[in-house]
Amino acid sequence: MAKHTPMMEQYLKIKADYKDAFLFFRLGDFYEMFFDDAIQAARELEITLTKRDPGQKEPIPMCGVPYHSAENYIKTLISKGYKVAICEQVEDPKTAKGVVKREVIQLITPGTVMESTMLEEGKNNYIASLSHFPDETYTVVYNDLSTGENRIALISLGWDAVIHELYNQPIREVVIASSLPDELQQQLRDRLQVTLSYQDEVTFNAEYRDLCENLHDERLVEGFSRLLNYIQSTQKRSLDHLQQAEVIELKNHLSLDMYSKRNLELTETMIKKGKHGSLLWVLDHTVTAMGARMLKKWLERPLLSRGKIEARLDVAEGFYRGFIEREDLRETLKSVYDLERLAGRVAFGNVNARDLMQVKQSLKKIPALKEVLQQFEQKEIQKLADSLAYPREIVELLDASLIEEPPISIKDGSIIKDGYHTQLDTYRDASRNGKQWIAELEQKEKQETGIKSLKIGYNRVFGYYIEVTRANLHLLPEGRYERKQTLTNAERYITPELKEKEQLILEAEEKSVDLEYRLFIEIREQLKEFIPQLQHLAETVSTIDVLQSFAAVSEANQFKRPTFTDGRLMVKKSRHPVVEQVMTDGSFVPNDISLDEEKRMLLITGPNMSGKSTYMRQLALTVIMGQIGCFVPADEAELPIFDQIFTRIGAADDLVSGQSTFMVEMLEANHALQQATDRSLLLLDEIGRGTSTYDGMALAQAIIEYIHEHIQAKTLFSTHYHELTALEEPLANLKNVHVRAEEHQGNVVFLHQIKEGAADESYGIYVAKLAGLPEALIGRASAILQQLEAGNEAASAEEVSEPGQLSFFAEEGPPEKKEKTTARESKVIRDLKELDLFAMTPLEAMNALHQLQKAAKKQ
Ligand code: ADP
Repeated sequence: MAKHTPMMEQYLKIKADYKDAFLFFRLGDFYEMFFDDAIQAARELEITLTKRDPGQKEPIPMCGVPYHSAENYIKTLISKGYKVAICEQVEDPKTAKGVVKREVIQLITPGTVMESTMLEEGKNNYIASLSHFPDETYTVVYNDLSTGENRIALISLGWDAVIHELYNQPIREVVIASSLPDELQQQLRDRLQVTLSYQDEVTFNAEYRDLCENLHDERLVEGFSRLLNYIQSTQKRSLDHLQQAEVIELKNHLSLDMYSKRNLELTETMIKKGKHGSLLWVLDHTVTAMGARMLKKWLERPLLSRGKIEARLDVAEGFYRGFIEREDLRETLKSVYDLERLAGRVAFGNVNARDLMQVKQSLKKIPALKEVLQQFEQKEIQKLADSLAYPREIVELLDASLIEEPPISIKDGSIIKDGYHTQLDTYRDASRNGKQWIAELEQKEKQETGIKSLKIGYNRVFGYYIEVTRANLHLLPEGRYERKQTLTNAERYITPELKEKEQLILEAEEKSVDLEYRLFIEIREQLKEFIPQLQHLAETVSTIDVLQSFAAVSEANQFKRPTFTDGRLMVKKSRHPVVEQVMTDGSFVPNDISLDEEKRMLLITGPNMSGKSTYMRQLALTVIMGQIGCFVPADEAELPIFDQIFTRIGAADDLVSGQSTFMVEMLEANHALQQATDRSLLLLDEIGRGTSTYDGMALAQAIIEYIHEHIQAKTLFSTHYHELTALEEPLANLKNVHVRAEEHQGNVVFLHQIKEGAADESYGIYVAKLAGLPEALIGRASAILQQLEAGNEAASAEEVSEPGQLSFFAEEGPPEKKEKTTARESKVIRDLKELDLFAMTPLEAMNALHQLQKAAKKQ
């Protein structure tokens, strides 16, 4: 093995502790990477791979990034799901003996980034942790380091429920125990596309006590401790900024499984995975980043408590009615910065003076915000106004201490106001006076020497100097000046007096910069006390923003306030909130939906592409919108409060998990049947399509019967099996509806209207025609259909072929139907029958037999 230099030994020792991260090893002005890290980083970051000790037998691969621009490189690696360990020199190289001591000061991981450039404004950035207990329960903890938020849920319905819970959350990284079975780890990686991190040892520290105050279950405490242990070990700093963990009571929220979250495209679309085209895209009229994040959280967890839903609706209605005041409200909210993340940064200790200016400016808006809110009539809005506390002390502190336009750096001074601190003022005076003295000196020297171009300048190497151009040198008196530097056209001099002043000025400046830094840290520490207040304020402002967004979107799209019932569902002129937006010509056709205890299930028949799944989806979206406290896309809506929504819609293959469409279909159906209650909403679209006709139809019927009999959930079931419409007879709670289509001059026109009763035709061929399939093929399909409808259950290709039609075997004449033979066989047999054996020589017979056998073998 090659012997390494002491520094490389140090590198390897540190790297051994950070095997799954890129080790950014500080060397002077660069972070260097070596060995495999270097090879991979060079590829990922598109930087040059070089070699250390190129003269050696085995030079070490190396690449590096400049210290001052490291942030961008780190950002790239993090966004690709990697981790980066920042290893700094922790002693002064000038005084170090031997190799400078280095340590990892922070491990940056996708779930723990704090830098605002690496975070998306309107999106949380969660790190989650997952713990597994012997009683088959799990805890899931969510933490957003940038806001300090901690939420935790106990899941007792097994592993699938864990995946359903985590799915679609903005999670970048999941912390687990390495004992979690490999297969489950793989599922986390594949389904959630997250970075996995391991924390095997879990210890409870006394400093967690406050954070765990709401956790009354050992499993919750352990799950939370796993996450806190991991955060502490990576961030290497205190956890003051974290908020108390909040328990997510799953039973208090409408539960949406993974399939529904995906199928309904609540926050992102299925194919492009973007916000555009999702329900969130329609609903998001928030004006603050905090509001945008809160709206997304609400959408993920609609409410079950009627009281809470109505309370949100009351405020939304108040905002809806006061549309003039609402504009003022939106304007005021626009000037409130992201207080939630700013508070997080104050606590985390990476806030700068500019951030604090944003805090101050935002807080100064609070009285105006209160005033605008008070103009609304709704008493719930007045209550919100009352709950906004103006944190006067923070504003006064920041007003007194920080200048209005501070630089980003907190180490270079010019951040603290004059008059805030006496000692700082003294230093500043000294420096200002010194500078004044120098300005006066310049005048004096000019006069005394008569050199107009004489000037006093400053540079970092020589300090202050008097500069005289070469042409004027003869005017200088002897012996008064000491020459310091020679330039091409001038000489620079100093005098003892000048040096003395310089000393005073520099000392004062250095001291004042140091003092400013210390004062800033003090202010930051003082602000920590107010963090809970800031967080509370941030939450109220976010709530106001989301509810004004509901009002704005409801007004823009003519949504109506829903009312809630104990079971009956009636939506008049219901629309799909997203599809109607996309169809900008206003051609979306509204439909009524009605379900009650007597008719709980709708069997929807109709041609493909006629709007069946749109109809089903719009009901689910209407229910969700109602249960988050938003108005709904309809003229009138009476809704029961649903406990769960299950969907089996569309044929999106679960490509990632490698399951076939039909398997996914059955998994989704099974999940729904296992979990649904009589308070759930089931949307089953074309169940059974993925298998053969009888198989599929049998399954579809059995599923309908099962729901009817055992689950009694409100259900929309769409199908293209007309045979199923006969179920209306025996099943008392089932009702047939169909999507109307009209035939017009041989073409089908979809009216997208839902009517009572069963559809009478399938129209599939017309859809194929619309899709532009070849005319001959369409003609052929029509012929097959006619035959099938005439009673031939399974038509083989030849059975429906007719002369003049597109036929694969037209030249071979009509087939013998009774003999179950193929066309080719029948020709062989026909030829055989026609042979006149007695008119043939044995050789001719042999030849004919050979030909027949050849023909027979070809089939
Ligand atoms: P199906 O489930 O019956 O195959 P879809 O629900 O997927 O049909 O609808 C097919 C297309 O028809 C949609 O993409 C949409 O453009 C249009 N559509 C559906 N419902 C309506 C409606 N109510 N009004 C207008 N167009 C609609």
